[in-house]
Amino acid sequence: MTDPAPSPLHVEILATGDELLTGQIVDTNSVWLMDRLWDLGVMARRKTLVADDREDLAAALRETTSRSDLVVMSGGLGPTEDDLTAEVVAAAMGVPLELHEPSLEAIRERFRKLGREMTPNNAKQARFPRGATVIPNRFGTAPGLLVRLGRGELVALPGVPVEYRGLSEEFVLPRVAARVGATPAFRLVKLFAVPESHADQAMRPIMDDPANRGVRFGYRAHWPEIHVKWAAAPASAGATGGSAAPSAELHADRILAQVRGIFGDAIFAEGKDELAPLVVEQLTRRGERVALAESCTGGLVAELLTRVPGASKVFDLGVVAYADEVKSGVVGVAAGLLAAHGAVSEPVARALAEWIRRAGGATWGIGITGIAGPSGGTPEKPVGTVYVALAGPSGTEVVHRVWRGDRDRVRKTTAYEALDLLRRATRG
Ligand code: ATP
Repeated sequence: MTDPAPSPLHVEILATGDELLTGQIVDTNSVWLMDRLWDLGVMARRKTLVADDREDLAAALRETTSRSDLVVMSGGLGPTEDDLTAEVVAAAMGVPLELHEPSLEAIRERFRKLGREMTPNNAKQARFPRGATVIPNRFGTAPGLLVRLGRGELVALPGVPVEYRGLSEEFVLPRVAARVGATPAFRLVKLFAVPESHADQAMRPIMDDPANRGVRFGYRAHWPEIHVKWAAAPASAGATGGSAAPSAELHADRILAQVRGIFGDAIFAEGKDELAPLVVEQLTRRGERVALAESCTGGLVAELLTRVPGASKVFDLGVVAYADEVKSGVVGVAAGLLAAHGAVSEPVARALAEWIRRAGGATWGIGITGIAGPSGGTPEKPVGTVYVALAGPSGTEVVHRVWRGDRDRVRKTTAYEALDLLRRATRG
């Protein structure tokens, strides 16, 4: 990540709940919001996690609101004793809690519609600090609230992710967008199996180019996917070179062209595109189908494909041929091949792909064999050795790799490799 230009708005996140501090749940809300804020050119300055404790919450409110333009708080708006947010915010403001009739009616109505009885403690969710703006919640029961506190504003949202996200989209993010004005232009490329350090090194000349001084770059690794993202500031603040600064969109696209030049085929998708849906889309467009014979991935490629709506248009047959007897007895790999080369070998991957292609009457056949570990490796074929074959109309291509990492990583990377081979073979 490059040094961020200072965010135009000082935003902090304050997440509350004992569960967040006992390891029972992961604070996915904040990660989601930070990502969305970043899309607006705002990097959250801090994130604080606090237990359901009056004093700790009060202290956290004091600290965060004393230095921020906006604090986005979450959790503790529920009906139970340990839901303290409204109460603590009111105390920090030095005002009482007051019943908000429209919210009480909305909560009653919600319970009526759900056919559930409203318990008296649900009425607690309609009590807000005096002067607060109530944020109606059509995603759940507890409304959110907005108050002025300390240096800026505090927004409190329910912790339930669907509610948190819904209210953020409807209320918080438009508010932030309005305050920061023009938003940066974003581009994102997704690389397959490029270690982050390599990506960083390859990106250096672009990142260090003075013309890109106003651009923020970032990486995110979900191995085997590495995402490289950049945001060109509006009017490309910081751009040099004598001529007028390019528009943010133009600037972001210029960088995209350079990034494509550097990574080429390692880029499997751009923007919101994802590998498996892309493969399904390409096959659908071409009216082609794929059949799979998987050994070490145990059906992972089939799983990735069938997650995509519409996969049935391109996929009929997938076989997990794990044991050698199955490879030779059920799936048509000649026993001689297995004896001569071993199950984890180029000829066996090739035979799997070619056989399943014929058996499935498909345009493409994929055969996968490998050693996912942790045992089973030899000096010649260490753990992580995999062969992925793609049989198609003009022959069979086999890729041999030795992936590092544990069993999950080897299997996942191999499944991606198979899909990526198919993606390259079917584009255009
Ligand atoms: P509600 O009254 O609508 O339940 P709340 O404001 O009281 O909401 P919490 O009780 O703190 O929220 O959390 C409700 C549930 O939402 C939690 O059990 C948890 O599953 C989920 N949750 C809370 N905070 C987070 C978070 N930061 N990230 C992800 N999930 C969260």
